Amino acid sequence: MKVPFVDLQAQHQPLMPEIMQAVQNVLTKGNFILGNEVNELEQMFADYCGVKYAIGMDNGLAAEVLALEAYGVGPGDEVITQANTFIATAAAATMVGAKVVLVDCDPDTYQIDLDQLEAAITPRTKAIMPVHLYGIPADMDRIMAIANKHNLLVIEDACQAHGAFYKGKRVGSFGHAAAFSFYPAKNLGAAGDGGIVVTNDAQIAEKLKILRNCGSPKKYYHTMTPHNHRLDTLHAAILKIKLPHLDDWNVTRRARAAEYEKLFAGTPIITPKYQAETEPVWHLYVVRVENRTELQDYLSKQGIGTGIHYPIPIHLQPFYENLGYKQGAFPVTESYMDKILSLPMFEHMTAEQAAFVAEQTIKFASEAVTA
Ligand SMILES: *Cc1c(COP(=O)(O)O)cnc(C)c1O
Repeated sequence: MKVPFVDLQAQHQPLMPEIMQAVQNVLTKGNFILGNEVNELEQMFADYCGVKYAIGMDNGLAAEVLALEAYGVGPGDEVITQANTFIATAAAATMVGAKVVLVDCDPDTYQIDLDQLEAAITPRTKAIMPVHLYGIPADMDRIMAIANKHNLLVIEDACQAHGAFYKGKRVGSFGHAAAFSFYPAKNLGAAGDGGIVVTNDAQIAEKLKILRNCGSPKKYYHTMTPHNHRLDTLHAAILKIKLPHLDDWNVTRRARAAEYEKLFAGTPIITPKYQAETEPVWHLYVVRVENRTELQDYLSKQGIGTGIHYPIPIHLQPFYENLGYKQGAFPVTESYMDKILSLPMFEHMTAEQAAFVAEQTIKFASEAVTA
């Protein structure tokens, strides 16, 4: 049996006739830039998230950058996020000229450490960017309470968490705004790069529409930074077909995660934890193991694809040397660097595939223990 890390072909195959029809419609109409399909997708996605506005962007990083810029975050401001995230979260703050301030993650859930978050707040802090990392909801009640107490903005990085619930509400609907990515392998992916910002703030939504479109409220008249971060009509047309399937796809991911959790119980494989009253969407299923590299090689030889998210934390990236953090600054994140392994997880994965992955992983781990 082969188990790929993800299988996008399996996702697209049943939708192919509908997708091809949608692509043909756009090509026929020729409305490639900000066509109707973009508005339609934005309305669908806002409704899906339970927010008023959604503004399509050309990738998730751009969604984060423009969300910060729309709220006026810039030079002299500090933005707090976690050391174990993907580079884009920190990069967004850097790109608007703000200073990135990092904190460690919670050892069980991998989400931002709330005590360290509050301790990192200074008079210059302007925004918090919590990440719903791996599709596990961050503790939004406590994050919003901290933010309100200190009068801070919250921009959720929901790029790995389309559709996840925190206490009955979708992630992305808690902060002042949230950014999602439609990178193909995300829980909802375009046929290339894409992203979206959601917010309940009408003025911010308006600014985001101007910002993404050359800073122009009307053609050839520019009032804000002239970015070009529009979402293509073609991507919107395809995303409109995929979005109605997202909840079902996430149900399958949850079923596979539950199977992994059950099969790994009582073994040396450490599974991710999440708060009660949350429903993660398992963009990634990350376990911790000893002999991670050897396990990864072993699984690869059995035809099982895996990944590492992420092998180098933000503060140890060469680009971020200038932040001045030393090795040892974030002990939880650093101690997990060599132990985390992302197992296969995708919306068309079968129970048999999950069982095979678990069986092979446990086999390697128990042999490593007895060796
Ligand atoms: C995917 C992702 C992003 C945005 O990525 P893009 O490739 O720019 O769409 C941002 N943050 C996190 C945590 C991500 O996983």
